[in-house]
Amino acid sequence: AKTLRIGMIAGDGIGRNVLPAAQRVLEAVPGIPKPTFVALDAGFEHFQKTGTALPKETVDTLKSECTAAMFGAVSSPSHKVAGYSSPIVALRKEMDLYANVRPVKSVEGHDPRMVDMTIVRENTECLYVKQETIEDTPQGRVARATRQISERASTRIGRMAFEIALAAAQVKQQRGAAASAYGWTGGPTVTIVHKSNVLSVTDGLFRESVRKVAAEYPNVEVNEQIVDSLVYRLFREPEKLSTLVCPNLYGDIVSDGAAALVGSLGLVPSVNVGDSFIMGEPVHGSAPDIADRVPSIANPIASIRSAALMLEFMGYVEPAAKIYDAVDSAIRAGHVTPDLGGKLSTDEVTDVVLKAL
Ligand code: NAD
Ligand code: MN
Repeated sequence: AKTLRIGMIAGDGIGRNVLPAAQRVLEAVPGIPKPTFVALDAGFEHFQKTGTALPKETVDTLKSECTAAMFGAVSSPSHKVAGYSSPIVALRKEMDLYANVRPVKSVEGHDPRMVDMTIVRENTECLYVKQETIEDTPQGRVARATRQISERASTRIGRMAFEIALAAAQVKQQRGAAASAYGWTGGPTVTIVHKSNVLSVTDGLFRESVRKVAAEYPNVEVNEQIVDSLVYRLFREPEKLSTLVCPNLYGDIVSDGAAALVGSLGLVPSVNVGDSFIMGEPVHGSAPDIADRVPSIANPIASIRSAALMLEFMGYVEPAAKIYDAVDSAIRAGHVTPDLGGKLSTDEVTDVVLKAL
């Protein structure tokens, strides 16, 4: 039988509170080979102790031993710290995890606003190539950043978005009446998010590359929206959005905004996908404002759902569905952490989810 060895990179802050919840759920869910786990270091605290944010051993172990991984969150200071660079950005590049898939869904029969969209974020380039310079000029300092958009990366993220749109439409079809209550009417749709009215070269290449992929998917409707007006629509009629494909920075920003539509950043999962590796990761960060509470009050659901997404992308669709259902039932019953108005701790919510499993 296949074995599952999962690298667990908890990181900083609430990453350490929520990743154990994901592990407990992976240990309990039926229908997968019994997983083993290997704890791996990364993050700002690790940098402060050792001078390295992403130890070589972490990357080597992921590559040589692990079937997949889970990442918690890391803290990255907003001021420049010599020698420090965000390990998650590095890890995505190092493992060529070129897509970040972020489903944002409300819970049927619970949330007043029915949202069911997936943000497909390019994960390796855009401004995250982090080539920044600063120069002294007679008028004062001038800082510049390189924004890289390549045809190759845009094409492969486009292809991922079309595949996801097809899968999402199938799920919605199965839901029938519930789906039409979402305001969702038609077949699979991909919305290209860009700003090529201003950035006609970079975003222009992104748009054009995704549109070329569209020719391979005649059954998927393609439309596009300029990122600022997309944000407007996100507030006005989120029910009508389905699969969005975005360059890296827009995808990062739009997904935190979309998280507000479903009640909390603590609910929204993601998975980093490459051709040979999968890494689940909650969309939220290390949340220093609520880290270090005893007991922890960080919402574990984003991490638990990220573990399910990881399984889903590895082909374990049924076990993943069981986890989603268990989470939804905990939310419906109001067994939630304070970010959702509840009183439960991280571990108590996890207990409820495990019981529902
Ligand atoms: P954040 O996502 O950490 O927190 C934003 C807000 O959401 C906070 O009020 C926080 O309490 C709340 N929140 C987030 N997750 C929650 C959860 N699971 N349960 C309950 N509430 C939750 O974003 P931030 O405050 O802007 O950033 C904090 C740090 O995290 C920064 O150092 C940043 O660099 C880092 N960060 C890391 C990642 C990552 O590791 N992938 C992503 C985003 C931010
Ligand atoms: Mn983010």
